[in-house]
Amino acid sequence: MKFIEFANVCEKIEGTASNIEMTKIVAQFLKSADDLEIVTRFIIGRIFPAWSSEELGVGPSLLYNAISMATGVKETQVKDMVRDLGDIGLVCEKLCEKRIQQTLLPAELTTLQVYKNFRDVAKAAGKKSQKKKTGLLADLFGSAKPKEARYIARLVLEELRIGVGEGIVRDAIAQAFDAPKNEVERAYMLTNDAGLVAVTAKKGVEELKRLDIMPGRPVKMMLAQVARSMESAINDMKEVAVEWKYDGARVQIHKTNDEVILFSRKLENVTKSLPDIAGAIKDAVAYNQAILEGEAIAVGEGGKPRPFQDILKRFRRKYDIEQMVKEIPLHLTLFDALQVNGKSLLHKPLSERRRVLEKSLKKEHAKIDVTPRTVTSDVKVIENIYKDALSAGHEGVMLKNPKSAYTPGKRGKNWLKIKPIAETLDLVVTGGIWGEGRRANLIGSYLLACRDPATGNLLSIGRVGTGMTDKQLAELTGLFKDIIIFEKGKDIELKPEVVFEVGYEEIQKSPNYESGFALRFPRLASIREDKSVEDADSIERVRELYKIQRG
Ligand code: AMP
Repeated sequence: MKFIEFANVCEKIEGTASNIEMTKIVAQFLKSADDLEIVTRFIIGRIFPAWSSEELGVGPSLLYNAISMATGVKETQVKDMVRDLGDIGLVCEKLCEKRIQQTLLPAELTTLQVYKNFRDVAKAAGKKSQKKKTGLLADLFGSAKPKEARYIARLVLEELRIGVGEGIVRDAIAQAFDAPKNEVERAYMLTNDAGLVAVTAKKGVEELKRLDIMPGRPVKMMLAQVARSMESAINDMKEVAVEWKYDGARVQIHKTNDEVILFSRKLENVTKSLPDIAGAIKDAVAYNQAILEGEAIAVGEGGKPRPFQDILKRFRRKYDIEQMVKEIPLHLTLFDALQVNGKSLLHKPLSERRRVLEKSLKKEHAKIDVTPRTVTSDVKVIENIYKDALSAGHEGVMLKNPKSAYTPGKRGKNWLKIKPIAETLDLVVTGGIWGEGRRANLIGSYLLACRDPATGNLLSIGRVGTGMTDKQLAELTGLFKDIIIFEKGKDIELKPEVVFEVGYEEIQKSPNYESGFALRFPRLASIREDKSVEDADSIERVRELYKIQRG
């Protein structure tokens, strides 16, 4: 396929606002594409699958250098243009336009050629690798038409900026090859390779159904929801498998004989950074072939976990790794088995996966163990395990349904987490909504805002309301009744003078509120009668907490 056809499709999508329309365009394109595996990855801004150990290793400055070499424009000028236009793609396009006016039209590029060139860039290693990478990219820009240069530059930085993400590409694959959406999604969760899923879907539904978990290819990890309470978990599951919620980082382990590959929660290959964990797996795991999951914990004084930042240092480290292993030793606690000796266990109930997991260690090892687990229907038992976990410095407990399958990439009801509210925010109450039905006379939820010190304005950040009893709501309604300044339908505007201390699970970016953020699972922790509006948290504090949370 000619690369210009890919560039034309990207340009068309860039001018499309509707997701449905975008999906249609992508589907049509995939249907007609011959280098299907390559272009399916390209269209979501990927060159290799996210988890592949192959990566370009090119940052902005090497890219500027390459474009400067290809067009003869000084690197400082390239940088200035990027600052003005805000996009390296447009800069490359402009510079290639100028160059073409002076030279002959370059030959036609194909998507395969572009991919092969990228692969050579990824392979370049050793002392002169930077120079080699620059040369290869300069060659590519040398043969690119202006529009092609726009998308080559963006692909190099894996930011295509056309708004096609995993969701759209999955829907488009289903549309293009008449495959059921749930099968495409399943295949994607198991392989994390849009290219492979597209090629397989094209062969037919039966082939797609056969795609399965495979050593070396990470599976999207099963996620946990916040439990409403220990009692409700017991109510729903009857029997609950209780484990500590360790304060560490998740790893998915792929072992085949003596080869061990480790993936992080984001499915990045982190094997090189964790030689101690890989070595311990080789030493202690009994199965020749296995895919297991566990939590890596940075061990501090008295065996207590060290801060999450320390673990991140280990996961991200690319040099002086041996030194880092000594400075921040890790311990791995296994909690699940996804495949053993070629047999997928994903559909097996947790209780059975657990039996397989218990046989996974052939000897005691200082760096690995299997998490202790208690199956119970007794709240007191869970409470005791919870207290033990907290006093050992861990996060809380996980409550798992022993009958449940492993559902890749899903945040379902079969894994629940219980942990104390971590950081709280002090937020100003600026509005509310009258309840419905038997709560019609009560204010059912409250609008919260943080301060913007620059303008003095209050910026909305979310609502709190769920989880309060009728009695609490009645007390609060009494408190706020006198400071209602405006009402329309069920909406109430309140004089901003009360500060709530609010706990939450996570701060998320959100276009729905003026602050640009929203709180996940907000809970009223207390009414800060000692605080005035001026003492409430600012938008800077929210940004800071958001950053810390993202490591
Ligand atoms: P969260 O990150 O708060 O959504 O909680 C889920 C995470 O807890 C998982 O991704 C694991 O990294 C971690 N975790 C710690 N202990 C366990 C455990 N026993 N079972 C499952 N996940 C655990």
